Amino acid sequence: MKTVFVDVDTQIDFLFPAGALYVPGAERLLPAITHLNHFAASHGIPLISTTDAHSENDPEFQSWPPHCVAGTAGQLKPAATLLENRSTLGTRPGSTMELTAQIVVEKQALDVFTNPNFRALLDRLAADRYVVYGVATDYCVRCAALGLLGAGKRVAVVTDAIAAVKAQDGARALDEITAQGGSLTTVGDVTR
Ligand SMILES: [Zn+2]
Repeated sequence: MKTVFVDVDTQIDFLFPAGALYVPGAERLLPAITHLNHFAASHGIPLISTTDAHSENDPEFQSWPPHCVAGTAGQLKPAATLLENRSTLGTRPGSTMELTAQIVVEKQALDVFTNPNFRALLDRLAADRYVVYGVATDYCVRCAALGLLGAGKRVAVVTDAIAAVKAQDGARALDEITAQGGSLTTVGDVTR
């Protein structure tokens, strides 16, 4: 069974208290995210890292404070979460796709499936199981997990490598994901 790891939106604006849209407690995930990403690299497991890459006036900023604007420090991922062999898949239809160890998939909305190239990437990867972690459980992690389940993939969410904007909404998102057939796992289990 081919597995892919999906590191969702672990970007400076979300992870750290000084970030533009800080997810409470997210900075404590950094060792787990770092471990998972490098475990993927050393075990030949493809790694998708989704990232918000907003323009100055994306529609999302009507409901959220501006964050992760392309070209700002807050949009970057912490260096520890980056692999050397990586490429970026932009949002322009037909953007160049390379199957590097880490594929950074840009998006301008909550759901990574809004990147018009994402489904083609899933086809190229042809994996059956996706291990999902990052931020925020109640928004982008939820969208990614439900979208992958909807695409007929197996999904496992790493419960000790996620953080929610609101704890209650995070718990509800996990209920939704498991109700759709997703499973819950831990860093220890997926790196054993
Ligand atoms: Zn955003």
